[in-house]
Amino acid sequence: MLRTHSCGDLRPEHIGKTVTLSGWVQKARNKGFIVWVDLRDRYGITQLVFDEERSPKEVFEKAQSLGREFVIQVRGEVIERESKNPQMPTGAVEILVQELNLLNASETPPFTIEDESDGGEELRMQYRYLDLRRNPMREKLIHRHRVAIQVRNYLSDLDFIEVETPYLIKSTPEGARDFVVPSRMNSGQFYALPQSPQTFKQLLMVGGMDRYFQIVKCFRDEDLRADRQPEFTQIDCEMAFVDQEDILQTFEGLTKHLIEKTTGTTVDDFPRMTYAEAMKTYGNDKPDIRFGMTFGEINDLAQNKGFQVFDQQELVVGIAVPGGASYSRKEIDGWIDWVKRPQVGAKGMVWVKCLEDGTYKSSVDKFFESSDLEQWAKRMNAQAGDALFILGGPAHETRTQLSALRMELGNRLGLRKADEFAPLWVVDFPLLEWDEESQRYHAMHHPFTAPKPEHLEMLKDQPGEVCANAYDLVLNGNEIGGGSIRIHDADLQSQMFDLLGFSKEEAQAQFGFLMGAFQYGAPPHGGIAFGLDRLVAILGGDESIRDYIAFPKNNSGRDVMIDAPAPLDQEQLNELYLNIQTED
Ligand code: ASP
Repeated sequence: MLRTHSCGDLRPEHIGKTVTLSGWVQKARNKGFIVWVDLRDRYGITQLVFDEERSPKEVFEKAQSLGREFVIQVRGEVIERESKNPQMPTGAVEILVQELNLLNASETPPFTIEDESDGGEELRMQYRYLDLRRNPMREKLIHRHRVAIQVRNYLSDLDFIEVETPYLIKSTPEGARDFVVPSRMNSGQFYALPQSPQTFKQLLMVGGMDRYFQIVKCFRDEDLRADRQPEFTQIDCEMAFVDQEDILQTFEGLTKHLIEKTTGTTVDDFPRMTYAEAMKTYGNDKPDIRFGMTFGEINDLAQNKGFQVFDQQELVVGIAVPGGASYSRKEIDGWIDWVKRPQVGAKGMVWVKCLEDGTYKSSVDKFFESSDLEQWAKRMNAQAGDALFILGGPAHETRTQLSALRMELGNRLGLRKADEFAPLWVVDFPLLEWDEESQRYHAMHHPFTAPKPEHLEMLKDQPGEVCANAYDLVLNGNEIGGGSIRIHDADLQSQMFDLLGFSKEEAQAQFGFLMGAFQYGAPPHGGIAFGLDRLVAILGGDESIRDYIAFPKNNSGRDVMIDAPAPLDQEQLNELYLNIQTED
């Protein structure tokens, strides 16, 4: 090996030893008669000394020309450092260099390779290999590796086996567009990259594997919202002979284990909330329950009292903002402008201040008595000193707007603490969702999700009311996992495709293989998939996933380092039967 120790190894007990180290020059300080170099590798930094008197002449001379990020190998004696650095694990020693071997030179890097870099995101992505040399980046990838190992060990101990499923497949409907790959050997035909291994894991259950998992890449061609990646990683899982409760228990266990092992925090049993409850109290199917500010609906208290703006609305709903009674007029106006931004879309906002002396002051004093406002405050669990922020409008829209406001307030009031973990299950999702644009039902989760057995009757006449045995695992306001009990009966599956607007022929062409498999003794089964990138980021105390991915894509779905996607040359296009003319 090109080294006897790493740059993080050496301690006072090594003093007097001759060692060989290899690494990158973090920085060099030249004092004329002495050159100090910080040598860095993955494990740490060790100080090297090149001394005019104590190092060989040619070594000392060579050291003069060392620049940042040069790769070198040195041999020398471990000596005690005069001015020790207690911040550094190796800070008590240094190496008096006797031999210097330049392994590779380096251009000056385009940004500083320090914990706090001066490089912008795009530049850091373009030179990702340099960015990865920085401690925080390396730590994040190591953290990701640790989470993945914990997942594998935990599930393996429960008899899950990791099975790889193919990447070149046929479309799986998870609600996004497919990335497609042209087939050279089958002219005019295309593979789709999996949006998830959904149908394969179900076929593994038919195949008797019983408990499956896979840490697997999935591909979805979606319009990129901030912090989404076109390729991302799932911990994909499936179990046979289980009901919903078994799945919730198993994966609550896994999630607790991961939180405890990687953050040292213990968490209680996860609360459960129905989808309907989550929407009503948080306006959101992935509520952040690290903080309160739950919704209070006040239609009965605020309508028909002469304030027409409220009278017409389907829903009048508000939240109590801790300490909001002390907001200035300007601050309140700031929040009104915030909810009126097109991204949020509210028409306006009514506010009430619950003053410390028990009186109320509001933007609607003309219309309401103090006793009305007091009742509103009660409904929103407000304390003296709080403010009420109230919106009105169509129910779903208004909930979504108030939820956005709640989250923003949570952020600004510092209520969303990165080191606090508040997981919960959201259960009883509707099976279907009406889509105005196409004027038909879509599967809320995916078309393989089983309706609740007790709702089967309603499937024909009130499909919109049917709930599914589908669940999401939510952590700190993020959906980190979701799954369902599946349909395992060919007839029910075919009825489901009907409901979703597939003709018999379309269903057969696209999913004949699955319904065919269900003819051969499919066991009851269900599963879940976690988004590994996001889970890892949250466990690492971050919300942004990009730094937890070694080679991520930017907001336009581009890899700016290798410059992909890129055009193909005409010959390659012809070979793939793609009738596109390249521009010259
Ligand atoms: N395949 C689903 C998804 O990707 C997860 C599941 O139902 O297990 O969201």
